[in-house]
Amino acid sequence: MTPRQINRLASSTPGPTLIIVGGLHGNEPAGMEAARIVLSRLRHDKTPHVGEVVALAGNLRALVARRRYLDRDLNRQWTEERVAEARQAVAAATDDPAEAELHETVELADAIETIMARARGPVFVLDLHTTSSEGTPFGVVGPTPEHRAFAAHFALPCMVGLETQLPGVLTSYLGRRGCVTFAVEGGQHDSAKARDHLVAAVTVALVASGVFQKHALPDYDAQSLVLEHARGSLPKLIEVLSRHAIAPDHDFEMAPGFSTIHPTPAGTLIARDRSGEIRASNDCLVLLPLYQAQGADGFFVGRALD
Ligand SMILES: [Zn+2]
Repeated sequence: MTPRQINRLASSTPGPTLIIVGGLHGNEPAGMEAARIVLSRLRHDKTPHVGEVVALAGNLRALVARRRYLDRDLNRQWTEERVAEARQAVAAATDDPAEAELHETVELADAIETIMARARGPVFVLDLHTTSSEGTPFGVVGPTPEHRAFAAHFALPCMVGLETQLPGVLTSYLGRRGCVTFAVEGGQHDSAKARDHLVAAVTVALVASGVFQKHALPDYDAQSLVLEHARGSLPKLIEVLSRHAIAPDHDFEMAPGFSTIHPTPAGTLIARDRSGEIRASNDCLVLLPLYQAQGADGFFVGRALD
């Protein structure tokens, strides 16, 4: 099994803390690889910095199985109540092992709490994901001006209002704990491009958090350009308007050909389910189409804000 802590760079000079999480979904190891690549090079080069950066692996048990999750989605467990329930269930499960993600919730929460407890400045969180379908990488922005300011460093299309459609995501929970968070979807799970996008996002986050200075990272501008080129002509800011929730008995099937952020004219066939066809009621952006076996989010609908 991958260790929980992938890498850690700590300076004796106080400063901000950056926590990088990869593999919160077990079929998305690219974020861990990206963090490993960037941080091991900085460690090797002894690049000067302040504060601390720590990269953590997310769902260790699901990463072994290369599945999104084993019993429940680890990126939907992050409410105060559920974390408390997970702690109780794991404490009570001496003979009868608790579900995998209950252990994962407790172990990851403990790892993050330990890092937050020793922080000597603001704590930033970068949560790295990939998606089942091909498409443009994008960022998921938290609710406050601090989150927006952090997100502004990343030249990606950024979605506002997605977190509120996804109850129990890690970044919302840590945002409520006072962290400044940003999540990145890098692209299709197994593609080299997705890993490159996440390497670029890690590099930008190191500077955006203030742990590293821009001039200390010779490839900073090139990495930032990787994200800008990936965005292409898509809007920088996207408002998420709705979520198409699905259940296994819906027989949901996405229509072929949708990318991660897909401009869609009114009337376009988006998906089919047991009730029939699902078509776009307006010109919109179809977001995050579901082309995998597991998941409760069929797709999202959004619009450009700029
Ligand atoms: Zn994910």
